[in-house]
Amino acid sequence: VDRLKDKLCVVTAAAQGIGRATVEAFSREGARIVATDVNEETLAALAGIPNVTTRKLDVLDAAAIAAFAAETGAPDVLFNCAGIVHAGTILEASEADWERAFDLNARSMFRLIKAFLPAMVANGGASIVNIASVAGVPMGVTNRFVYSASKAAVIGLTRSIAIDFIKDGIRCNAICPGTVESPSLEGRMHATGDYDKARAAFIARQPIGRLGKAEEIAAIAVHLASDESGYTTGQWFTADGGMSL
Ligand code: NAD
Repeated sequence: VDRLKDKLCVVTAAAQGIGRATVEAFSREGARIVATDVNEETLAALAGIPNVTTRKLDVLDAAAIAAFAAETGAPDVLFNCAGIVHAGTILEASEADWERAFDLNARSMFRLIKAFLPAMVANGGASIVNIASVAGVPMGVTNRFVYSASKAAVIGLTRSIAIDFIKDGIRCNAICPGTVESPSLEGRMHATGDYDKARAAFIARQPIGRLGKAEEIAAIAVHLASDESGYTTGQWFTADGGMSL
């Protein structure tokens, strides 16, 4: 406990899944958290977690991001979690699919980091943690063309920011989760029409024999957010139950 004592942490896509688990883990470590999401109803369920303020933020909205950054000042930690999965090969990907995935998975991080960085630098530094995926840089995953391309962009922007601002006390790292239990994964399994079969197929991707837990990703986020990882920047951390082995 107290690894994030008095640190101000901004979290996107905080209402459920990895984002919510990370808010809970940051709170247990003594952080003050601004938890944001586009969905105000699910976000409202975070009320009651100690030291959490909730605020609506659509990461596709450039003006809203600029206003949010201006009102928030200099966070010690920025946890960029928003992202969506697109399924299919390149032949199933439309221009609109590509644009939506890159807007939500990569451009949102470009905008958020750019909006907060001047204040973070003026404040003497910060830790930025971006959620990528096992799909993209650590490995190729079947039927995840647009998703993998957009998540690989997250690794590229992470390493670029890490080297450009290393002298300013800015650290920037990424996490590459394998298949993690979450509301959107549940939705995708139900959407196949054969939930049990889909679940078994998702589990079979991991040699470890199970899905990951959001808390297992949040634990890495705490490490990267806190000063204990002070010598680590520009890296990606894969937590995938052996999927990429
Ligand atoms: P999830 O997909 O269940 O929830 C996503 C959250 O994002 C929701 O609360 C939703 O309201 C919010 N959101 C959607 N559009 C938004 C927008 N425009 N602005 C702000 N918030 C928005 O959660 P998850 O499955 O834990 O995924 C979170 C992140 O982890 C994503 O970037 C995803 O790509 C990544 N990831 C997930 C898995 C997995 O298996 N679950 C694996 C690898 C990477």
